[in-house]
Amino acid sequence: MKKILLFQILTFITVLFLFVSGRIVKLVFIDQNQILSTGVSAVILGIPIGLIFYHLIPLIFAEGNLRTRILLIQLNIIILLIDSLVFILIKKIFTSNHFQIFQVTGLVISILLFIFQIFRDLFFNEEQIKPDSSVPQLPVQYQQLKPVKTLLQIFFRLFPNPEPTGIYQIGNPNKMSPIIITGNYELTIRRVIKNISDIDCWLLVCNSRGVNIWCSSLANHFTTDDIIEMINRINLNSISEQKKIILPQLCAGNISIQKIKSETGFQCTFGPLSSKNLKNYLNNTLPEAGRLATFHTGERVEMALACPIIISIIFFFIYNFIHLPDLVIIIPVLYILSVIQAIIFPYRFIKNVFIWSLTFGLLAFILSFVFNRIVNLPLTMGLSISLGITYIINEFTGWSPLVKYSFLPVKKPSLSINPARCTGCGLCIQVCPKGVFHLKNHLSQAAKPDQCIQCHACFTQCPTHAIQHNLQKNKDSF
Ligand code: SF4
Ligand code: SF4
Repeated sequence: MKKILLFQILTFITVLFLFVSGRIVKLVFIDQNQILSTGVSAVILGIPIGLIFYHLIPLIFAEGNLRTRILLIQLNIIILLIDSLVFILIKKIFTSNHFQIFQVTGLVISILLFIFQIFRDLFFNEEQIKPDSSVPQLPVQYQQLKPVKTLLQIFFRLFPNPEPTGIYQIGNPNKMSPIIITGNYELTIRRVIKNISDIDCWLLVCNSRGVNIWCSSLANHFTTDDIIEMINRINLNSISEQKKIILPQLCAGNISIQKIKSETGFQCTFGPLSSKNLKNYLNNTLPEAGRLATFHTGERVEMALACPIIISIIFFFIYNFIHLPDLVIIIPVLYILSVIQAIIFPYRFIKNVFIWSLTFGLLAFILSFVFNRIVNLPLTMGLSISLGITYIINEFTGWSPLVKYSFLPVKKPSLSINPARCTGCGLCIQVCPKGVFHLKNHLSQAAKPDQCIQCHACFTQCPTHAIQHNLQKNKDSF
């Protein structure tokens, strides 16, 4: 935890440095005639820095996934190169001296962040989150309501919020009590505990890198090895005699229950989609809908409050060089528009998300034009708001696996079941969050293939490899 704190302090100092240097540069070098060129250079400086922060922060917590890290590092190199090229180009067009300062500052910061990423494993490693293998008492902090903290976590949901892993007793469990698995994202732990507080059970918190289970599993940050490691480290055998654990349904796309069984002896079952239904699941009264994922208004609004943080950071850097007080209007308006678009998202009159985002952005600009006439609101603000909301809507589509990003064409899912291999075990029905499968004559059938959101769960879990899906890397032949 000390190292995470150190990282947070370093980030804060970097942001502070950017802020102060921006102010000084502006005070010393800029007069009214240079506003346009300053704005251009600030955009060029701000965007790569914002992007680097965007990729740096999740990267720091992404232990154990070398491929993702290498990809992100490559991406940062490209950003760095584009950054340099654009600065050189701009310098050719505008010849003012202060561009050298922007150029040097931008490149030095980019290089420092880049070097920091390469060597970050020297400072942050798997040991940063230590399991609590002592007396498994539930820490008081998870039982408190904490509305302010919850609100902050919603606004900063994009960033990981890791808690120590470990096992906790809920109520008065014994050796036959259920064992429920979850990840170590603070908000998830508190919500799960709230939903099972009156059940006598064990809660095993595994390392999901401080991210919620679905995102963490899809990004390969919550793996079979994390669960096996926790079972062994906690010595779960000494706590339980029933040798059964309940996994969250939404990790099914990235977990091998066969490997867990063979390496630990623990049998796995998949619990409900949401911890709200855990009680029903344990009482065998889980309705069919308890296994289906939705993206209802409440969830969309929660995401809409998280989405604007990146563009807000980018605007902070840009407006640091232009006119910082403008953000007092720009940022709240962006949050309000983000929530409005989240509410109307399913009812939008243009289905293609990219065109919808451009239309919404254009409407925002027209509205700002009207305000410009009525209350003399600067048009640059309107432009920033419309660009910001266009970005947010495109970003929003990536916030749930249920909403597919449509800027790039999404490959239509194709899946089929080999009846000769299907044993009718029903596991695909249990794990599919879209209800694609049903049983007929004791065999599974893909009844609604168009509903597939390509989450990997069915073919990862099918014990006989009966499911053929276009996402499978190594397709078994029929
Ligand atoms: S998981 Fe595989 S074997 Fe089991 S019902 Fe589904 S297709 Fe059949
Ligand atoms: S059918 Fe599609 S949505 Fe359902 S489990 Fe398989 S991959 Fe996921």
